[in-house]
Amino acid sequence: MNILLASANQHKVREFRSIFTGHRVLTPPELGLDFDYEETGDTFFANAFGKAETLFQLFQLHRESAARESTTASADLNGDQLAVIADDSGICVDALDGGPGVYSARFGRNEGARSDEDRTRLLLQKMEGVEERGAHYVCCMVAVTGVDRFLCAQETWHGRIAHARSNGSGGFGYDPVFLLPERGVTVADISNEEKHAQSHRGKAARTLFRLLTHAGVPAM
Ligand code: IMP
Repeated sequence: MNILLASANQHKVREFRSIFTGHRVLTPPELGLDFDYEETGDTFFANAFGKAETLFQLFQLHRESAARESTTASADLNGDQLAVIADDSGICVDALDGGPGVYSARFGRNEGARSDEDRTRLLLQKMEGVEERGAHYVCCMVAVTGVDRFLCAQETWHGRIAHARSNGSGGFGYDPVFLLPERGVTVADISNEEKHAQSHRGKAARTLFRLLTHAGVPAM
């Protein structure tokens, strides 16, 4: 099976390649596709589905012209199975009524937060003196496998917001402040393998993989 991933984010590409072993994981630039999608939905599903559906349509248009010219990489996929996969994820903090949630990547933009580090520091500031520190990550993953045909998996990963940033260098985003209570460390302190084995994204990808295997992916 070929998987076209609606992301060029190297974190995600690596994670996918390690989960979907034995299958070809491609990115839009590898097929010569210029893909950009603005996430304007107010749910994880709306963004993930919108991204996957838009890339599927773009791929189809590209493939049709590639087939006529037989010159680009997309033409090589004719007759092969292909699923276009996109995800949207974020962190939901109980004391912030589930925020920043779907807006996690943009959290604190109005307050000057620009980097992952700025965002984690702002989150810690908002959580100062707050006892209720429960939080969970969410990942919604959608696979479009044909016109009007898709599969979806959404998973969570529960933890707590730490009182200070960890110096650990693992993971990305909110990982330095996402505490795993049973381990007493943050996600930035564990290996990528350990993270993928239990994370929202790892679980959603494995569930989706099972669904795809069970439901089947038609040839293009
Ligand atoms: P997106 O799914 O690429 O739109 O990312 C949403 C945002 O949620 C990221 O920029 C991170 O800030 C946050 N996020 C999602 N998953 C994780 C994770 O596994 N660790 C840390 N932060 C995450």
